[in-house]
Amino acid sequence: MLYEKTTNIEVRKYNRNTIYRFIYNSKKTSKQEIAKNLGVSLPTIAQHLKTLSEEGLISEDGEFKSTGGRKAKAIVCVKDSRISAGLDITQNHISIVLVDLGGNILKNIRIEKHFENSDEYYKNVAGILCEFIENSEFRNSKILGVGISIPGIISSDKKEIIDSHVLHIKNTRCEELIKHIPYECIFCNDANAAGKAELWNEDSEKNIIYLSLSNSVGGSIYYNEKMYLGDNERAGEFGHMVIMPNGKQCYCGQKGCVDAYCSAKVLSDSTKGKLSEFFTLLNNSNKEQVEIWKDYINKLAIVINNLRMAFDCNIILGGYVGAYLDEHIDEVKNSISKYNTFEIDIKYLRVCHYKLESSAVGAALLHIEDFIKQI
Ligand SMILES: [Zn+2]
Repeated sequence: MLYEKTTNIEVRKYNRNTIYRFIYNSKKTSKQEIAKNLGVSLPTIAQHLKTLSEEGLISEDGEFKSTGGRKAKAIVCVKDSRISAGLDITQNHISIVLVDLGGNILKNIRIEKHFENSDEYYKNVAGILCEFIENSEFRNSKILGVGISIPGIISSDKKEIIDSHVLHIKNTRCEELIKHIPYECIFCNDANAAGKAELWNEDSEKNIIYLSLSNSVGGSIYYNEKMYLGDNERAGEFGHMVIMPNGKQCYCGQKGCVDAYCSAKVLSDSTKGKLSEFFTLLNNSNKEQVEIWKDYINKLAIVINNLRMAFDCNIILGGYVGAYLDEHIDEVKNSISKYNTFEIDIKYLRVCHYKLESSAVGAALLHIEDFIKQI
């Protein structure tokens, strides 16, 4: 509900933000509809619409069909009025995305580049990022900043990478990584970023577990739409839950971790590192891949069932493997049902929406989230 007839700046700001969010969530609306839903007078709405429009955040887009009186003008958000960049740094490549206010990928690139904790590497990555933005048709757009996702644990003040087993760095100041980047940067753990991307367009989901099945296994926990990080910023490190005592060696030094059974490498090792080829052979019922897959989803089923027992909320399968799971989700569900204690129907499980660069998108969304908050 909006407040009216007050000069209080805070209230005005609150009203403006509420109106913007209403338009954002409606996709297409009208002044009359805003008035009806938010309970505020047309002149007050008109005032806010004027300034939002002057700032390029909303525009008129045709008219609604008449229901008797004058046709109402359709109002929409201008999603590309601001743009955010996402940079995903992994052991062997970097990905860059440009994302609009709606979380849509406008442009993306993935480059093979082996990570090095050196100034030369960081300078090089900054150069690629700037060139990508400069050479895009969005070079004159207002860039909100760069979100950077890292396969590692970031300190709560976002100033330090505490530990990244994958990149082999510890206690590294974030400012070292970004001193050549001329935009405002925010850091985020890669799985947390991917989880954020998945939640972005989901009105119905408040609590989710995102299980990232990439070359390492990670995850994130969203409770009431907020990232739950734990006491040591290590919540969601599902890859190092032990599912087999004295089992296969994990890269972390322990044995029997989820990562050793459920990382994308477990599949792509049979196809010279090419995951797409693994799924092509699997879909052609190639014996070797069928066997590997059976074992894989058996272990994955244990993990998913345990997560469901612990968190009792929707679970999203993402990461490199998640991108291929649309065709195989029923097999995974069948595999889970044999562990089931409470429910036969595995409705809580779904495949990720973002098949591409979800971590980079989620990192970019951090700037967008902040921007929308202050509109
Ligand atoms: Zn481990």
